Amino acid sequence: MAMSEVESHDIIVVGAGFAGLYGIHRLRNDGWDVLGIESGSDVGGVWYHNRYPGARCDTLSVDYSYSFSKELEQEWDWSERYATQGEILGYIRHVADRFDLRRNFVFDTRVTGMERNDGTGLWTIETNTGKRYCARFVLLATGPLSAPLDPGISGLDDFKGELCRTSAWPHEPVSFEGKRIGVVGTGSSGVQSIPEIAKTAGHITVFQRTPAYSIPARNRPMAPAELDGFKQKYSEHRQEVRSNYTGFTLETTGKTAAECSETEQRTHLDEVFAAGSLGIVATFTDVLFNVEANEVVAEYVRDRIRERVEDPETAEKLVPKTYPIGTKRPCLDTGYYEVFNQPNARLVDINDTPIERFTETGIQTSAEHHDLDMIVLATGFDALTGAILAIDPVNGNGDRLSDAWRDGPGTYLGLAAAGFPNLFLISAAGGTSVFGNMVTVAEEAIDWVAGALAWMSENRLETMEARPEAQDEWTRHVLEIGNSSLLPATNSWYVGANVPGKPRSFSVYLGGFNIYTEKCREVAENGYEGFSAR
Ligand code: NAP
Repeated sequence: MAMSEVESHDIIVVGAGFAGLYGIHRLRNDGWDVLGIESGSDVGGVWYHNRYPGARCDTLSVDYSYSFSKELEQEWDWSERYATQGEILGYIRHVADRFDLRRNFVFDTRVTGMERNDGTGLWTIETNTGKRYCARFVLLATGPLSAPLDPGISGLDDFKGELCRTSAWPHEPVSFEGKRIGVVGTGSSGVQSIPEIAKTAGHITVFQRTPAYSIPARNRPMAPAELDGFKQKYSEHRQEVRSNYTGFTLETTGKTAAECSETEQRTHLDEVFAAGSLGIVATFTDVLFNVEANEVVAEYVRDRIRERVEDPETAEKLVPKTYPIGTKRPCLDTGYYEVFNQPNARLVDINDTPIERFTETGIQTSAEHHDLDMIVLATGFDALTGAILAIDPVNGNGDRLSDAWRDGPGTYLGLAAAGFPNLFLISAAGGTSVFGNMVTVAEEAIDWVAGALAWMSENRLETMEARPEAQDEWTRHVLEIGNSSLLPATNSWYVGANVPGKPRSFSVYLGGFNIYTEKCREVAENGYEGFSAR
């Protein structure tokens, strides 16, 4: 195809989730000619695809929302403390309408590859529609949890019943009424969907490999006065949460566990548990770093699980004992453990009786065959790097990002990869990403990139690239903090242990959202220190 047949823009943004949408808004306002490319049929990203029953955010609605527009903050009314998928998608659609963002997107278009020509300085983007695009700059706003994984157990295609994936839930209503349903996976998606499925299922069998630590979300309607209170002090609230470790409301004692007496520990844990917050893993500053501190919180949560499950044998299977709390992503639930008190529910611990295969009529374990009308897969994602490496950018020398990341993702500030000029990563490995408020993390990253592009433009620069030595130093720093925590030792999606063959690496910056954003600001103020630009 001749270059003239390739649609050209200044900037291409891949993804129409929270990050991509704000990217288009901000960069378009800055005067750039932008195009967004999205595989879904509309805006929303994971909130477009993950529409399974029970899907809901476990960050407070007032935090999990954009801060870039004061008018938007004032006009949108969150109806619940933790918003449902439907309400979040409604909000994202409202944002797209209000700021007229869809006109800069092509939908139903998946980016399948991209390659840079150092001669022209342009990236060419390949898509599944066959259409090609080119741009000087590309932002991959593809999300850290957007490349779904099937369980890698044989026979899935043989199953003749209904098959649903939480990560790509059907848009038509799905009925569970009277059906025999098997759910594989007990992470956030399983823990949220299982109670909803169990309400009407004839029978539900949950196939559990690793139990989650989950506490009740205690979701409730947002009282008008409460919402008004937030609206009156949104700026202060945003400022306050941006200056903490995560970028969202965080209940913490600000002390290590050892600095609190047993009574104090218990009081604080009771408070956070009663509030229903993932902040339980931040109750003490060292929960993710110190085995004893972790055990205080883990044991507290284990006891709460035991209290919720009537059958002691089932309760013990649901209690996580093999890994510290917070080293796999903990969950907030609404009636999860109580499902196992229902007569129509059964827990199968597949460590005792492994799944051998899917069959035409259900799931065969080493002990028995489970006859099923429907299988629900809640088996997770190739996190942090999966969506980026599915595109696998190729630079002007023919080097692939997948080769550069063979031993784990190296980035500078999570925003750029050395050797890949004018390519910006949003919410990627090397940043605070999944340990921060995803909306705020995205806004910060987009604003940083917008600032960098404006600086280039002012200085008549065309190419910006992370210096290898700056990237190496930053990556070492990220790994050093990560390795001082309890996280790398646990098999989790954080370290890529859920993806066969993926290099094991804990590559999320654990130093804190506040410290990270300060570092990014410093880099910019120092003339984009650590980048080379020409
Ligand atoms: P996940 O946390 O990775 O959970 C996947 C589950 O499937 C795990 O229980 C895993 O077991 C199991 N599994 C995977 N392969 C299996 C196999 N071959 N056989 C049996 N079990 C298998 O995925 P997720 O629940 O979709 O959540 C991913 C992340 O998305 C969350 O941690 C969270 O960050 C985000 N999320 C957030 C929300 C929210 O805001 N409320 C909702 C959904 C998702 P193992 O643990 O043994 O690997």
